[in-house]
Amino acid sequence: MSSYGNPAMTEHTKVDFGAERVDGETASTPGPTVLEKAAPRSERMATNKIECNACPVLCQISEGRTGACDRYANAQGRLIRVDPVVFLSRADAASLDKTNPANLTDTTIEFGAASPTQDSLADPSLFVTGIGASSTYPDYKPAPFIVASKRDDVDMITVVTEGIFSYCSFKVKIDTDRFLGPEQSNVRCQGEIVGHVTTAEYGSQMLSLGGVHHLTGGSKKEGRVTCDMMLALGNKQAVEFTIDGGASLVIRAGAAPIVDGVEEQRMRVGCGSATIGIFAKQWFDHVDEVVVVDDHITGVLTEHQAGRCLGMARSGLKIRGRKSTPGRYFQVANPGTGWGGTDIHDPLAIVEGFDPAVAKPGMRLLMVSTTGEHAQWYELDHDLVPRIAAMPDAVRRTVERIGENCEPSLATVLFLGGAGGSLRAGATENPVLLTRAIKQKLVNVTCGGAPAYVWPGGGITVMVDVSRMPDHAFGTVPTPALVAPIEFTMTYDAYRDLGGHLDAVRSLESVLANGPDHTEGAPLARRTLASNPDNPWPPAMPPMLG
Ligand code: SF4
Repeated sequence: MSSYGNPAMTEHTKVDFGAERVDGETASTPGPTVLEKAAPRSERMATNKIECNACPVLCQISEGRTGACDRYANAQGRLIRVDPVVFLSRADAASLDKTNPANLTDTTIEFGAASPTQDSLADPSLFVTGIGASSTYPDYKPAPFIVASKRDDVDMITVVTEGIFSYCSFKVKIDTDRFLGPEQSNVRCQGEIVGHVTTAEYGSQMLSLGGVHHLTGGSKKEGRVTCDMMLALGNKQAVEFTIDGGASLVIRAGAAPIVDGVEEQRMRVGCGSATIGIFAKQWFDHVDEVVVVDDHITGVLTEHQAGRCLGMARSGLKIRGRKSTPGRYFQVANPGTGWGGTDIHDPLAIVEGFDPAVAKPGMRLLMVSTTGEHAQWYELDHDLVPRIAAMPDAVRRTVERIGENCEPSLATVLFLGGAGGSLRAGATENPVLLTRAIKQKLVNVTCGGAPAYVWPGGGITVMVDVSRMPDHAFGTVPTPALVAPIEFTMTYDAYRDLGGHLDAVRSLESVLANGPDHTEGAPLARRTLASNPDNPWPPAMPPMLG
């Protein structure tokens, strides 16, 4: 598995404002292209250069070179888009023709040619994503694609663009009870601070990574490393992190996290108290006491309400930590990577002893972690000292049942971006109307065809699971900022009412035949991918119509 964050890897090339790319790569790399009209040549620009005006960097690109973001190139004096526009089809992946290069993500399409997709020009099941669609700069231009379609006899409009996001971050949920580091600790990549540990959730540790502060508020190196880290994470690549005062991590969206070199297997079934509640009846008659070791709440069966309801006699076991309520204890140990997310490796370390007025020799004690990965069976000797003994089959089955109820541990990566700024001008001359229409649920927002959650309150703050987006959906520009696809879909009437760029509306057939408006008739290079089966289809039906 390759991973980002290894200092030995090649660093992303960065050029200064107005400079050409300097790493010697050329645009001869075969790949799908979208032709674009270059910006007017400035007087100081060499004659063999053209200026890319797709972002504020305004690269001056020499013949045969790419711009700083690798997305645009100078091909014989014409500004071309190196990668294709990604379309989604409702056809499932198995039915797409794998001999067709357009349907393979790792196959490139001949330079300058329209991709030979199997989709019909009139196929209403095609959806244009913002991936490869290009962005608009300055912002007052209409979005690259404003596409008309029909859904159930209703005229629809999808505004398609790539947004350039400075205000963006990734929220990462890591399904583990192991201690990754104190909350608020710095998270580092290649030694640079790129985020922090944030509030833990039920069964998961949480990281907040990237964001405008690290992209633009620190050193140049911090901004570059942050940007490259975000690109890799969003594009579902593995990224290495270290946490100050905590663990080292390898995170890849949709894959098991690797903590201190060990791949995590199970997400805990619940806290110690919840585990007692779930399994109390299955333990009844087979045990005299159960302690479920957990960094959050350690549970003690006979003291817990579940044991009391079953009429279980108290065992006299005394546990360390701070008692919260009967049978529920906080802070029995320090956080760590041992039993139940604590730092203990011998579970008896949290047992203070047994009350001799209550406990009896021969009592049976199960100590188990919240994932069932750790479990030990004891019997009290004549001095009321717990001695390890062979675990009965009936009890072992309950431990296995705990493991069976644990879900696989995953790292989940959500992109969070602020689309409430100038990007809106690509959709309408009166941007606040777009914001209001989204809040009124007249407009559906997707990112690369994946459903986006729009936060309540001001702005258009979208959140999307990168696992539901097509591969390689993100790009960067060296400002530094992240490039992410975004699509706004609504009825034609809603688009008209919010002051949309009606002059720029085109049919899907026109888009496929002519590319973006400013390409002057060049065919559109595209790649058609099967829609993620986990996503709704059509991907962009506004809630009021869905
Ligand atoms: S960074 Fe990319 S989009 Fe921006 S001007 Fe350079 S080539 Fe164009």
